[in-house]
Amino acid sequence: MKYLFVFATAVIAVTLATGPDTAPGQFARPVDIVPPDEDIGDDYTTPAVQRPLPREAWWNAVDVALLATALCLSAWIVLQRRSRRLLVVLTIACLLYFGFYREGCVCPIGAIQNVTVALTEPAYAIPYVVIAFFFLPLVFAILFGRVFCGGVCPLGAIQDLVLLRPVDLPRRLDRCLGLFKYIYLVVAIWFATGGAIGLDPPGGRDFIICRFDPFVGFFRLTGSGGVLIFGGALLTLGMFVGRPYCRYLCPYGALLAILSRISWRGVTITPDKELDCGLCTEACPLGAIEQRRAVRSACLFCARCFESCPREPVNLDRCATTGESTAGVDR
Ligand code: SF4
Ligand code: SF4
Repeated sequence: MKYLFVFATAVIAVTLATGPDTAPGQFARPVDIVPPDEDIGDDYTTPAVQRPLPREAWWNAVDVALLATALCLSAWIVLQRRSRRLLVVLTIACLLYFGFYREGCVCPIGAIQNVTVALTEPAYAIPYVVIAFFFLPLVFAILFGRVFCGGVCPLGAIQDLVLLRPVDLPRRLDRCLGLFKYIYLVVAIWFATGGAIGLDPPGGRDFIICRFDPFVGFFRLTGSGGVLIFGGALLTLGMFVGRPYCRYLCPYGALLAILSRISWRGVTITPDKELDCGLCTEACPLGAIEQRRAVRSACLFCARCFESCPREPVNLDRCATTGESTAGVDR
């Protein structure tokens, strides 16, 4: 794990060293204090204030540093400490900071579109903070799996915290619905190109991932009625179906799923040898365990299966204290 912290430190140092030299007043355009419509003329409509407002470069560096630190912590908590409780603490902290305080922006999911524009429009200068947010979780996915989904992503966090009574979906239905996120990824990239690949999307370039982000309205305490209803419906569904947006719709989740297939490490359900008792399969609310093993592309690093495993030291201690059976478990 010390390599993780070395990596995070390196990321922070590079970020601070290479960030563009943004003058403090650069973003001072007073879009929120423009003259009212009636002072300008009947036909004038005041443009919407950009949310969240751009911040100074060093604040962006702080965000990247916090993202790198949270990714390291998520990997350490799930792979080393194997603690659901610590992960919940990290999840709440990231939801509060990246979700409610930073209002869901910058986020790697929306960054797909910025990266697409940068690749198809040479004149577009993509902010370094967007590059960092896009690539850092992908690097961690190649190393360890979907660490970002476990305790860092605010969209995953808000769904994880509302899960009350998960039901199992038929495996085939689950896999079929899971294909939507790959289709959504392709369509979102197509819209972001704005026709630069020779095929014009209807209505021209559009950032549809941001337009239809189901939870950003909650983070910003504003949003169109349709999107708020969509988000509310997903959260209601998410009380019984584990993380529906993550499993079936998230385009960044599609990228993470692809890369985590080749990850160097991943979640191992038991700390040492497998028992094949099947308790973990029942405990996983995301249908990510097949043949008693975590499927790396589907495992969202939620750490719930650890709580059910009789081989976890903390569970062995609990059984010893309460007198619960540990049949079949040799110490
Ligand atoms: S699947 Fe998407 S929304 Fe869900 S936790 Fe991962 S990145 Fe976030
Ligand atoms: S296998 Fe399931 S319960 Fe275990 S960490 Fe992965 S998603 Fe969570």
